[in-house]
Amino acid sequence: MKRRIALVTGGVGGIGAGISRRLAKENVFVIANYVVPGSETPFIEAMRAAGFSDDQFAVSGGDVSDYKAAEEMVTQAVARYGPVDILINCAGITRDASFRNMSLEQWRAVMSTNLDSVFNVTKQVIEGMVAQKWGRIINISSVNGVKGAFGQTNYAASKAGVLGFTKSLALEVAKKGITVNAISPGFIDTPMTQAMPDAARAAVIASIPTERMGLPDDIANAVAYLASTEASYVTGTNLSVNGGVHLYQ
Ligand code: NAP
Repeated sequence: MKRRIALVTGGVGGIGAGISRRLAKENVFVIANYVVPGSETPFIEAMRAAGFSDDQFAVSGGDVSDYKAAEEMVTQAVARYGPVDILINCAGITRDASFRNMSLEQWRAVMSTNLDSVFNVTKQVIEGMVAQKWGRIINISSVNGVKGAFGQTNYAASKAGVLGFTKSLALEVAKKGITVNAISPGFIDTPMTQAMPDAARAAVIASIPTERMGLPDDIANAVAYLASTEASYVTGTNLSVNGGVHLYQ
């Protein structure tokens, strides 16, 4: 079997790097996307330190919230490494504020990064997957997209949008050998949650049945399953990986 190629948007971030590392371990060639120049350096160093060589992974800069930039990033990556078999839409940001204090900029930044990006990047790879009659699309949503969260009307709306996108596209391409699934992480220990004040972090941990935040590997393990050939009968689902937090919904 030919070695599969995965594109992970936000693939050098906290969860994205865990996903990239895990897929590389599964003998998948990984293209990790990022946006801020320089943010790829620690990722590359960590991958090399973990024993991965340059023929097992690559990085690709590009702003996936922008259609043209996403198109350019994927076109260049495909020309260099080959068609994408597995797409993980993982890039995401928060710009929290109560709705009454939320600016149009905060709304737009989150919607374009978390939701438009899923359209922008999936659009570039779907025809290749249809042509080869095999593909895996895994969208990283959030428990807050399912249940809502104070101060996150923008984030929760974007992540709920990702779930609607996932189920609808799953229906459209089910006959083409392509599965489309979502993973909804709970609280995962990454720069996104490390930015929370200590008291808020402690309150969050106390609210999780397993009494710990998740690790990027907890999400990466779920991605590895959904990306595998064995998961060919799983499509349109939303896998909650959250230490049981969803039980309180
Ligand atoms: P993170 O460490 O902040 O990583 C986010 C990644 O997204 C970074 O690699 C960042 O690139 C990239 N990114 C942001 N805007 C981008 C853009 N316009 N174009 C391309 N890449 C962009 O966050 P994380 O915690 O790993 O989150 C990853 C995903 O999981 C997000 O979708 C998030 O909403 C979701 N999630 C996280 C949690 C959690 O508890 N951490 C819970 C539920 C869902 P740079 O490094 O270049 O900035």
